[in-house]
Amino acid sequence: VKELGKNNFQFYTPDMNEAVTRKMQMEIGLRKALERKEFRVYYQPQIDVNTGHVIGTEALIRWEHPEWGHMSPADFIPLAEETGLIIPIGEWVLNEACRQNKEWQTQGYPPLRMAVNMSSRQFKQSNLIDTVSNALDLSGLEPQYLELELTESIIQDSKYAITTMQKLKDMGIFLSIDDFGTGYSSLNYLKHFPIDSLKIDQSFTRNMFENTKDAALIHTIITMAHNLELKVIAEGVETEEQLQFLLQRQCNEAQGYLFSRPIPAKEMTGMIKKQYTY
Ligand code: C2E
Ligand code: CA
Ligand code: CA
Ligand code: CA
Repeated sequence: VKELGKNNFQFYTPDMNEAVTRKMQMEIGLRKALERKEFRVYYQPQIDVNTGHVIGTEALIRWEHPEWGHMSPADFIPLAEETGLIIPIGEWVLNEACRQNKEWQTQGYPPLRMAVNMSSRQFKQSNLIDTVSNALDLSGLEPQYLELELTESIIQDSKYAITTMQKLKDMGIFLSIDDFGTGYSSLNYLKHFPIDSLKIDQSFTRNMFENTKDAALIHTIITMAHNLELKVIAEGVETEEQLQFLLQRQCNEAQGYLFSRPIPAKEMTGMIKKQYTY
C-alpha cells in the first residue's frame, strides 16, 4: 500500500502497474527464449595464479532479446527461478557448456574444467542426477572436467543436500561453493559436505584495499580452505594489486576482468590457443 496524500491510499500506482506488466512480459519472453534460440553461453577464464594458465572457465548465460537487446542474468535469473523456467534453461546451459568443453578437448587443447552455475531450484529437482549424467553422456565429457557451482542457500535442507552432493561427487564431478562468505550459513557444513573448492565472493575482492576487514576475511578464508584441503578461487579480480595480494596469501585460482570479461566461445578458443600468460 502506497501512501499518496493525507488519507489517501491506493493499492496500485501506475509505477507498480508498469512493473507488474514488465515482469509479465519478461516471463512470456523467457518462456519463448529457449525455442527461439535467444540464449548464449559466455565463458570467463579461471587462472591458476601460480602458472598464469587458464585452467578452467565459468559458463555464464546471456539473453539476446530481438527487441529488448541484451538482458542481464541478474534481471532474468531470479524470475526464471521463481517460475521454474530455470529448470529447462539450466539444463540447456549445462548441455551447451559440456558440449563446448568437449569440443575444445577434441580440438586438441589441454583439458579445462567447465564450471556451471546451479540454482537451488535446479539442485532440488528430483531428476537432477539424471540431467547431469545425461549432459555428460550426450557430450562425452569426462566428469572431472565438469564443475558445479552451488550457493550456500542449497544447504538449508542439509540432509537432502549432502545426499545429492555425495551422488554428484561419486560420479566424479567437481563441486564448489559460489559466493562463499555471503550466505550467513554455519561453517559446520564445510566438514560434512563433499566439496572441492570455495569461490571467494567478489564483494570481498572489491574492497580488499579499502576495508582491512575484507582483506582479513580473504586471508582467513584461504587459510581455512587449505586447512580443510579445499581449493580457493577469488572472483572479481580486476587489478594487478589484488592479484599480488592473493598470490602472497596462496590463493590457488583467480577469475575477473583483469584476465578477461566473459566472452563468446569463439573468443575463448582464441585465448586458450594463446595460453594466456601475464
Ligand atoms: P556469479 O555466478 O557470481 O557470476 C559472477 C558474475 O560476476 C558474472 O556476472 C560475471 O560476469 C561477473 N564478473 C566476473 N568478473 C568480474 C570482475 O572482475 N568484476 C565485476 N564487477 N564483475 C565480474 P553475470 O554474468 O552478469 O552473472 C550474474 C549472476 O547470474 C551470476 O553470478 C549467477 O548467479 C547468475 N547466472 C549467470 N549464468 C547463470 C546460469 O547459467 N545459471 C544460473 N543458475 N545462474 C546464472
Ligand atoms: Ca558462479
Ligand atoms: Ca560468484
Ligand atoms: Ca553471485
